[in-house]
Amino acid sequence: MKIVTDAQAFAAACAELRRSGGVGLVPTMGALHEGHLALVRLARQRARHVAVSIFVNPTQFGANEDLDRYPRSIDADLAACEREGVALVFAPERTSMYAPNERTRVHVAGLTEGLCGATRPGHFDGVCTVVAKLFALCGPCVAVFGRKDYQQLKVIERMTADLFLPVVVVGHPIVRETDGLAMSSRNRYLSEPERARAALISVALRSAAGAFEQGERDPERLRSMVEQSLWEAGLVIDYVSCVHPDELTPLVGAIDDDGAVLALAAYVGSTRLIDNHVLQMGES
Ligand code: AMP
Repeated sequence: MKIVTDAQAFAAACAELRRSGGVGLVPTMGALHEGHLALVRLARQRARHVAVSIFVNPTQFGANEDLDRYPRSIDADLAACEREGVALVFAPERTSMYAPNERTRVHVAGLTEGLCGATRPGHFDGVCTVVAKLFALCGPCVAVFGRKDYQQLKVIERMTADLFLPVVVVGHPIVRETDGLAMSSRNRYLSEPERARAALISVALRSAAGAFEQGERDPERLRSMVEQSLWEAGLVIDYVSCVHPDELTPLVGAIDDDGAVLALAAYVGSTRLIDNHVLQMGES
């Protein structure tokens, strides 16, 4: 496994991997868990070689967010990548990704305004900027992103199409703990009682999904079911929304054949967690 920290060295290594069969790219912020590793495995199914980037991207964190205390475990991450047969790890310093005189941000309009974008202004500009840089360095590839960050996936799909980037973006389903909690690097922040309360997030989503399967098509009723359950669990809600799966706009009329996504962000203590459930017609 090759490890590079320099942007141009990453570009050269990706070019070499492409010449010998192709690249599956998995962008991460490290503190790797089984969710990330599932993305690596999917990338390996879709491409001959897998490249993983590990970079806690400063531009996607707001001033009062957890950039400084975001979990970092580079040695364990490298060992996990090695075990998974990753060919290339890119672990840059901030200055390799953002030159001192850099001025560019990539903005995807509309899709970034609601959901997480409403309470994390600038977050998706940071995400799009770093992902565009990674795509530019990596060149033509398959890139795998998790549906846990549903809005992020949709925004990156849009950016990739709009900018004609030579990348096939692939989504991976949410990987969960046995009690349903969506895996996240931020779960490491949770105390034991908080961890137990966090599990109620997926219970709330599952129970609303159950109502949908029983025929409930009113987005507001499904949304408020989730909201009510989170209140009862004592979580502080950032948002609970029932949105169109592609437009990410809140649904007003009955859910139609396009289906919907129930998406939420909530604080368990000081830890902000996100989760979602895709509601699809004809699926149980
Ligand atoms: P992060 O390191 O949190 O920026 O995540 C890197 C990638 O892993 C993103 O595409 C995430 O959506 C994805 N990811 C993180 N957690 C999960 C999970 N539990 N299930 C599926 N994908 C995930």
